Order: sequence, then structure tokens, then C-alpha cells
Amino acid sequence: MVPSRGVLRPLGLSEVRITGGFWAQRQATNSRATLDHGREWMDKLGWTGNFTAEVGQGSAERRGREFSDSEVYKLVEAMSWETGRLADPTRDNEIAELTAMIAGAQAEDGYLHTAYGRPGQRARYGDLAWGHELYCAGHLLQASVARARTSGDDALLNVARRVADHVCEEFGPAGRDAVCGHPEIEPGLVELFRVTGEQRYLDQAALFVARRGRRTLPRHEFGWSYFSDDIPVREAKVLRGHAVRALYLAAGVVDLAVETGDDELLETVAAQFDRTLARRTYLTGGMGSRHLDEAFSDDFVLPADRAYSETCAGIAAIMVAWRLMLATGRERYADVIERILYNVVATAIGDDGRSFFYAHTLHQRSLTAVLPGDVEQLGFGGGPRAPWFEVSCCLANTARMLASLSTYVASVDDEGLRVHQYADADIDTALADGRRVGLRMRTGYPDDGTVGIEVTAAEPGPWTLALRLPAWAAGATVTVNGEPAPATGDRVVLRRDFAVGDRIVLALPMRPRFTRPDPRIDAVRGCVAVEQGPVVLCAESVGGELDLDSLRVDAGTDPAADGGVTVRGVAEELPERPWPYADAGPVGRRTALDVPLVPYHRWARSGPSTMRVWLPTT
Ligand SMILES: [Zn+2]
Repeated sequence: MVPSRGVLRPLGLSEVRITGGFWAQRQATNSRATLDHGREWMDKLGWTGNFTAEVGQGSAERRGREFSDSEVYKLVEAMSWETGRLADPTRDNEIAELTAMIAGAQAEDGYLHTAYGRPGQRARYGDLAWGHELYCAGHLLQASVARARTSGDDALLNVARRVADHVCEEFGPAGRDAVCGHPEIEPGLVELFRVTGEQRYLDQAALFVARRGRRTLPRHEFGWSYFSDDIPVREAKVLRGHAVRALYLAAGVVDLAVETGDDELLETVAAQFDRTLARRTYLTGGMGSRHLDEAFSDDFVLPADRAYSETCAGIAAIMVAWRLMLATGRERYADVIERILYNVVATAIGDDGRSFFYAHTLHQRSLTAVLPGDVEQLGFGGGPRAPWFEVSCCLANTARMLASLSTYVASVDDEGLRVHQYADADIDTALADGRRVGLRMRTGYPDDGTVGIEVTAAEPGPWTLALRLPAWAAGATVTVNGEPAPATGDRVVLRRDFAVGDRIVLALPMRPRFTRPDPRIDAVRGCVAVEQGPVVLCAESVGGELDLDSLRVDAGTDPAADGGVTVRGVAEELPERPWPYADAGPVGRRTALDVPLVPYHRWARSGPSTMRVWLPTT
């Protein structure tokens, strides 16, 4: 079920458990509130009801957008990971109930979508650019894989196999020479291949990837790049167009390259992702700066106040980074995952688990609105967290990420065990040679940079424990049973004959630091941001009392961290002018002040506020 090759072997939910701290709290909220919140809204808006016979036979109206089926599938995926994390018979029954409902809407020939092909509905596959039929199928496949991995129930897997068989018939070598406007079927098919061993699913994924970029989709004002259909995958140099589409496709391409042994394709997509990180990614790890088409813009077009940075794009980027890391062993991709986790995923969901951001601005100039808790929002470009959006892809996406988060903590390679993310976690797994190994990790991370690891199971003979050293962690130290060990490069590598009770302490420097942008990012030239460990900080003004646009920061004085991070600066009271351009900039009265900063993931949790990440310097 795991990738058939790669430098790293991922661990399952039963091998790594997050037991406390920052992420355990969020997993608990996800379990307690977010999953039910999603279900309640999907019931209320009729998205689950679309699968019932009344809609199927045309006696009731189908509700929601053409991709709403996928939200039900993602929710089932999230619930499935959750029952794998923590056994819950009630939730298990709910999944079985939803599975029966989904199965009931499947056509004789395996086709499954509630918006097409039934009495009074549009024909199947009449609008591949916008219809989202294969996109929804892809999410169903992923949900079935999650269910198969976390239960003995193969009901959903059987539905998914029939869907995949239908897709192979319809779009196979002798079928429609076409792709879906929204990639997602590609990773779904490869993941289903891994579970079932069915070669035709892998072949079909290869066919979809080979067809992409040949402009088989119709012309559109957003251009073929919107669908990643402008250039063949093997010829593209960077991710472009709709961010989530591009990233889901990239995830599927990595999966395909791994399973087919195509290293050239693997390095091609790695280079595309690396260039995207270098030129088209926000400090938070967020991707996508164009609101109009939810898309990547040109290199270095990364305006803070127009950051789109959709939650789903963050999660999709984690999917790509994780796959690339497993395939190549490059630890730096875990840095990318960490950045997105703490600054996009942790930011997305409200403290109550029942509201969420769709887009993630890095600069809120006007006070965020107060939104009612029971009204679906239509616009999703920014503003406060909302209980629901007409397009609510991000909620279930975050839920499935949080429920499966422990699997991103560590992996096994030929030498031993590698720890990629720091959290309170218990690891119990087998090394590549079959020897059992156990670790207990305890830390106050990310508030505290000390990570304590105790060996809880070990068998005789040497093996390597590798601990990621984040790129920002210069000066980190490590000890094994009190003895210092070298800590340089992208990971600490400890090779020895470990014994139960051995204790490793990693100390990562967590003092806040200024971060400066590449000068080609014109929108934030002359600004600094402050980061602390993996966490991006921001200035927030609850109630708007402090005019954040008047701030100028003294970047010559290090940020202070006495009971909360502050930076020295001034508020400059700028004069009103009839025209905002002149031969010299305005000069106002300056008042010195210490500006308190908070983690970006904490913003907009205490009522209407303004906020900025990038701070102009004096
Ligand atoms: Zn989304």
C-alpha cells in the first residue's frame, strides 16, 4: 500500500501517535467539532442528500455546485483517518452509512456523480473543463484508500474499484482522448493501484499525465495554463495556473514516476516544485497570488495584501513535498511541510473547529467583519474565518490532513529511522531489516525548541537515528545521554547501538529573527518579517486601534522575546494628501513604540482586527 520504491518508507497511523501538544490539541478539535460541523453543513445544504434515490430518479432537485460530491468524499476520507487514529464505533457506523448512501448512487456501469447522466440532468462528460466528474472520482478513490487502510470494511473500496474500472473503460487507450479540467484522478488512481495491485489503474494515470498539456480542453479566458493543459508535464519548468490543480497534478505525477521507475519524470516534477518554491511561494508556504483564477502568478508576484494562498493549495503542496521527500530522501522538503503546517494549516481552522479560512491574506488592511455562524459565505477571497463557503473544499481538506498528521512525523530508510517533525509523539515501528524500534518524543515545540527523545524499544546492533535540522536552526545542539554530538547540515545523524532508555536531546534555537525578502518581490521590498522557529509572526491590531500601515520597524535592533515577541519601531502619523505620488515621500510625526507580534496562525481569533506580516523598516 505504500510506494513500491523510494528512499524513505512512510509509517502508518498505528506506528506513530501524536500524544500531546500543539497538534494533539488541533487533532482533538478536528475530532470533536470539525468533522461533525462538515457533516451538518453538507446535510443542511443537501450535498449528502444528492446521493439519495429521490435525486437520482429526478423527483427531487440536486443541490450545490458540480463538485459538492467531492466534499462528501473528503469528509469520509477525514473520518476514515480519524477512526484509524482513534477507534470510534459511532464514527465507524457513520462511515458505513455514508458509504451505503454513496454506493446507492452508483450507476450499473460504475459511473458515479450526482450531477450528471440521470433523468433531467446534463449528459456525462459533456463539460470536461468545468464538470469536475473525474476530479470527484479521484477524491472518492482517495477516500476508499483511507478506509481500506484503517478498517476491515472494503465496501467503499468496492465502489471505488467500479468507478476506476469505468474510468479506464471510458478514458482508456481506445476511449476518449481527454483529461479532466481539475486534476485529482491521477493521484487517486495511483493510490488505488497501490492498494489493489490493479495495473490498469496505474496505466490509466500514466495516460492522463501523458495527455495533459496537449490543449485538449477548450479555450478559456484563463488560458490553458489554468488547467495545466498548456505544456506537456515533461516540458514544463514551473507550476502555473490554478494552484490547487497544478499541485494535485504534481502529486499524481510523483506517484506515477515512483511506481513506473521513471526517474527523469520524477526529477522534472521536483525541479518544477523547487522553482515554484524559489519564486512563487509566500513566506508562510502559501501558494497562489491571483484571486481571479486562484492561480500562481509570474515569478516574484507575491503581494502580501493580495495573497490568495488557498488552504487547499497549502495542503496540496504538503502532498507534493511529502511524496518528493519519500522518493528522494531530501530532508529539505520536510522544512517545506513544517512551514505550511504551522502557517497555513494551523491558521485555517478557528479555535472552535467550526470556522475556517479559504484564502490566507498576509495583510488585512480593513477590520475583518463579524460573520454570523449559520450563514454560508459566497465570496472567499479573504476576510475572517467563516462557518461555511459556497465552495467549501478547504474544511474537509484540512480535516483529512489533521486526522492523518502523525504519518508525517517520521519515516524509515535503509540506515534506520528519520524524524521529520517535532511533536509529542510515540513511535513504534520496524527498521528496514525488521528489527523493532520505539521512541518517545516529548517537547513544547514550537513554543520551546527543546526536543527530548527516549528510546523505548531497540534490538541489538547499530542503526541510525536522523533528526531534521531546519534551515533556520543554525546553532542547534544535540546530546546523546548527555554527550554532545555534531549537529550540522540538514539533519543530525546518530549511528550507534541504541539501548532502551537512551536519551537524545535536540535544542533548536527559537529566538525570534528578522527575515528579508528577495529584492525581486517588489511588493514587500524594504520590509522585514519576523519568524520564530517555524512560526511566522505578524502584527495584529484587534479593534484597529493601532494603524498598522503607519508602522516602521527598526530592523537594526533584534526582536525582543521577554514574555512575548516585540520589535522596536515607530508609528508615523502621515499627512493626508490629495494625490499619493510626489517627488518626495511624505514625512509625519513619529512616535516610538514597541510593536507586539503574535503567531500568524493566531490572528483573527479575538474579534475584528487588522494584521500585517511584512513590516516596513525605518
Ligand atoms: Zn479549498
